[in-house]
Amino acid sequence: MKTNLPLDADRLWADVMALAEITDPQRPYTRRSFTALFLEGREWLVQRFNEAGLTTRIDTAGNLIGRMEGRNPALGVIAIGSHSDTVPSGGRFDGIAGVATGLEIVRALRDSGVQPEHTIEVIDFLAEEPSEYGLSCVGSRGMTGSLDDKMLALTEPGGETLRDALRRVGGDPDRLELAKRDDIRAFLELHIEQGIVLESQSLDVGIVSSIVGIRRIEVIFQGEADHAGTTPMALRHDALVAAAATVSSVRRAAEQLAAGGADYFVATVGILSVDPSASNIVPGRCRLVIDARTTQPALTQRFVEIIDRESTAHAMAARVTRATFATLSDGPPVACDPALRTALREGAHDLGLSEIDLPSGAGHDAAFMSRICPSAMIFVPCRAGKSHAPEEWADREAIAAGAAAIYQAVKALDQSLGRNG
Ligand SMILES: [Zn+2]
Repeated sequence: MKTNLPLDADRLWADVMALAEITDPQRPYTRRSFTALFLEGREWLVQRFNEAGLTTRIDTAGNLIGRMEGRNPALGVIAIGSHSDTVPSGGRFDGIAGVATGLEIVRALRDSGVQPEHTIEVIDFLAEEPSEYGLSCVGSRGMTGSLDDKMLALTEPGGETLRDALRRVGGDPDRLELAKRDDIRAFLELHIEQGIVLESQSLDVGIVSSIVGIRRIEVIFQGEADHAGTTPMALRHDALVAAAATVSSVRRAAEQLAAGGADYFVATVGILSVDPSASNIVPGRCRLVIDARTTQPALTQRFVEIIDRESTAHAMAARVTRATFATLSDGPPVACDPALRTALREGAHDLGLSEIDLPSGAGHDAAFMSRICPSAMIFVPCRAGKSHAPEEWADREAIAAGAAAIYQAVKALDQSLGRNG
């Protein structure tokens, strides 16, 4: 592994490990957005930001921002960041590694005695993971003008609105327009891969080519709940039979669409509810939610056509009604900025790191940031691709290598951006 990195791998690692300590002790590693633990984690980050000489603030969308003023502020901002919240019983690296990377990069710049031309910002985006309010990427939506009143009216199970929660963590939902930025010239995010491509090929970093778009489709089959003992097979209207066949259709269609190879495509049925769900009752109603992800919107279109047609046929065969076939959400795929990708690739090469282009099958804050500025991501390997679980693991050297590639890219971009136009 590389030992001549331009930043302090141990200092970066110590931050990741220290933040991991701020967890629900019963459920490591849990630091859910909007909770007291989340705010404790943020307080810890603010102290580190201050020690690094950053000017710290929380914007109206609830993002924690540390700012290192550039020599030529008119050039705008180069931002580096990710998120410090976790899923329940999540890991120590998802998101946190990206925030710690931003912090370590400004410290390394300071240690080298260089004041960049551009202002550098480190951003901890609010609530990247799906929150109790049913929304993910709250902070990056806010920063890009994509957080609307309907979203702010969402409530958590206790009844608090996202609007009130945002106020509670230092944001200002009535002045969200102040969070929207037009001065960021580049956004860079380090994240663990959450997959096995890098590990299985023994590569140091992944340069993310694009971030998948995600379509969620709700399908409801309505049949008739009948006695499981006395209703003859020929007279049943079993909603689960249609739903089960649809799950198989999703699998088959996704395998076919992914087999093309050029574009990324995956689809999953992760929610299947059976009503009334009793061992002695023929299922009367079934709801399933399909999650389809791709870098190529045309594939989603074909997928939806196939599932629409086949689920209709499955309903007929089971003598039930397909009561609902509806799109719940539809986020488009995002291509990472070519110039930033080149800067990251050259940064990796400067350091002798091996790299590969790969798509991201997970959503990230960078996908929203690309709406307002050139954005790109670097992936670092994580053990067995495991994520959103306590076993999630990335090596100290792996994180440091990815962070160092971003450091190199930031230095190069600081010299090139706004100067050759
Ligand atoms: Zn994440």
